[in-house]
Amino acid sequence: MVNFNCLEGVKCPDCGNEKSFYIQSTAVMYVTDDGAECRSDIEWSDDSHTQCPQCERSGHLAKFKSIRRAVRERHSSVGTQKNSEPSYSPESINGDAPCP
Ligand SMILES: [Zn+2]
Repeated sequence: MVNFNCLEGVKCPDCGNEKSFYIQSTAVMYVTDDGAECRSDIEWSDDSHTQCPQCERSGHLAKFKSIRRAVRERHSSVGTQKNSEPSYSPESINGDAPCP
């Protein structure tokens, strides 16, 4: 399965899971004494804490995006792993994501 929406390019570097992840995110909540409702887009970034539900590897989301980049760089030049790719803006990731 290839992710092309919320999880584009995201894959667990340990177990290969790419179906689902726990990603620490931020959102504006409408909170009353009865509970909370999400009232904004949910946002996260490459620095957001992420955990694989299958093998429990955790770290920044960027660590889960480095696989394809590493493979690509291995073809050209070895060793330099920079953040040269444009970072995803939370809006582009979550544009169509519904609030839970
Ligand atoms: Zn994993």
